[in-house]
Amino acid sequence: MPKGKVTFDYEMCKGCGLCVAFCPQHILYQDKVDLNKSGYNIIKVNDPEKCIGCAFCAMMCPDSVITVEVNK
Ligand code: SF4
Ligand code: SF4
Repeated sequence: MPKGKVTFDYEMCKGCGLCVAFCPQHILYQDKVDLNKSGYNIIKVNDPEKCIGCAFCAMMCPDSVITVEVNK
């Protein structure tokens, strides 16, 4: 089981990419196709098994889009 699980409130995302840049596991990416209703490319996880639950992505997000659940 991965140490963490990230979920996104997609409609809040402004596509700034900070979460992608600061994830130490490099598992986040900006999807090139899927947009939210505001027209921003949403963020996806390419390898959820590698999430360490550090929550750097959530801390960096200026719009509180990301929730991190830490598995104990
Ligand atoms: S919790 Fe940490 S490892 Fe998991 S997606 Fe966010 S920044 Fe990456
Ligand atoms: S940091 Fe937040 S607003 Fe910026 S791309 Fe990531 S989820 Fe979207």
